[in-house]
Amino acid sequence: MDYHALEYWKESARTVQPETRLFINGEYRNAVSGATFAVENPATQQTLVQVARGDWQDVGLAVKAAREVFERGDWAQSSPQRRQAVLNRLADLMEQHHEELALLETLDTGKPIRHSLRDDIPGAIKAVRWYAGAIDKVYGEIAPTSSDALALIAREPLGVIAAVVPWNFPLMLACWKLAPALAAGNSVILKPSEKSPLTALKIAGLAKQAGLPDGVLNVICGFGDEAGQALSRHADVDVMTFTGSTRTAKQLLKDAGESNMKRVWLEAGGKSANIIFADCPDLQKAAAATAAGVFYNQGQVCIAGTRLLVEESIADEFVTLLKAEAQKWQPGNPLDPDTTHGTLIDATHADNVQGFIRDGEVRGNVLALDGRTNQHPASVGPTIFTDVNPQDRLSREEIFGPVLVVTRFSDESEALALANDSEYGLGAAVWTDNLSRAHRVSRRLKAGSVFVNNYNNGDMTVPFGGFKQSGNGRDKSLHALEKFTELKTIWIALES
Ligand code: NAD
Repeated sequence: MDYHALEYWKESARTVQPETRLFINGEYRNAVSGATFAVENPATQQTLVQVARGDWQDVGLAVKAAREVFERGDWAQSSPQRRQAVLNRLADLMEQHHEELALLETLDTGKPIRHSLRDDIPGAIKAVRWYAGAIDKVYGEIAPTSSDALALIAREPLGVIAAVVPWNFPLMLACWKLAPALAAGNSVILKPSEKSPLTALKIAGLAKQAGLPDGVLNVICGFGDEAGQALSRHADVDVMTFTGSTRTAKQLLKDAGESNMKRVWLEAGGKSANIIFADCPDLQKAAAATAAGVFYNQGQVCIAGTRLLVEESIADEFVTLLKAEAQKWQPGNPLDPDTTHGTLIDATHADNVQGFIRDGEVRGNVLALDGRTNQHPASVGPTIFTDVNPQDRLSREEIFGPVLVVTRFSDESEALALANDSEYGLGAAVWTDNLSRAHRVSRRLKAGSVFVNNYNNGDMTVPFGGFKQSGNGRDKSLHALEKFTELKTIWIALES
């Protein structure tokens, strides 16, 4: 792919004109209150734009529009082929606006433009196309009842879906939810993170252009405790589908219980274990995958393999390889197509990450690689702590930055016990040449995804989600449709 040069992206950044208004019932509009909030580019520390600040009033209008169109059936009752055609047109339009979407993602988040172009936007488009392609291939069932009855089992769209998403992969994670929800016939209100609203606003207009009826997709920007909470406590929202922190996830469960018992689907935090056995088939490959698995996206990846468990006999050699691999992830200007490591989402978050590093040092952990050398206020480079006590805060809490903690183990049972000793359960990896061990350990790991001799392979065909406090439900694959449909049985008595 031609990534163009830094000057090209600087010029594009100067001229791009992001949409800044909410999208309700097929129209861009200011917030009812007229309020706005500043969206900052973390790389320059400057305000990019002022965006409309949605609150309960805007949420009320969006839910009303979403409900009305759902009940009218303009989209919900339309044929799967029509929904497929509209979503495919949306994917085409996203492809046509690929560069602009990638630029907005990078300006909003500080992630490298090469990753926005190569991963985020193609990942979002793939999700839209995949569910467009899938939706006319999903059949109902007939239950094996006695011959005097016919019991049909159908899946129906649920109604009004609130999709609340974070800032680490803003458009891709939004599309993992929007695409199956819309394909199944629901109406959606998308609330992007207050830190990264620009691509969500852009695709709302593209969806209208693609032929999505007004009210079926609405985008409300704003803060979690305003627009977010207005959605999670709304009595006419049928489903809350969420990606974000475990803290917010727990609040959403409470909100649902205290309002209308809406279905709540959660993709939350992680502290995933990456286990390297001494019989790992290729230590060099494992070191490269381990570094990518924890430093990619500046470490702001829910499934990042942040706990490295390495067998004692190869630990020193592996850490040496790893430090060399970490050099490939040095901070740079996110708009430079050669940059592989941009800035964190903002200076406050970078300060939190640095706080973890300071704390870790104070408690005597060995800092084998210190990412604090860069002077940019929102930047932290690859950081590695070795010989970390598994009970230390560094091993237990999600840091959500490029910080790897290494712990040594002596045998398989110790490795498993350490890996499973976490309140999270999103991902885990096992590196071994022993087939039986690979299966044995995979089965006993308490994680939604287990990777053998790779870290974080993925595809739209494969479900993604967590055990324990990493969440419930699954994004991606046909399983995601279960979150956005209700099972209905229809009993028909047959006369003999
Ligand atoms: P966050 O929980 O602070 O915010 C996520 C979203 O929730 C934002 O849109 C925010 O405005 C909204 N929100 C916050 N409080 C709310 C409330 N009370 N009611 C309704 N909405 C509210 O998370 P973040 O800092 O944006 O994202 C980082 C977190 O996301 C990390 O913990 C990471 O592990 C997690 N994450 C998980 C996955 C996954 O698939 N499991 C994927 C990516 C990120």
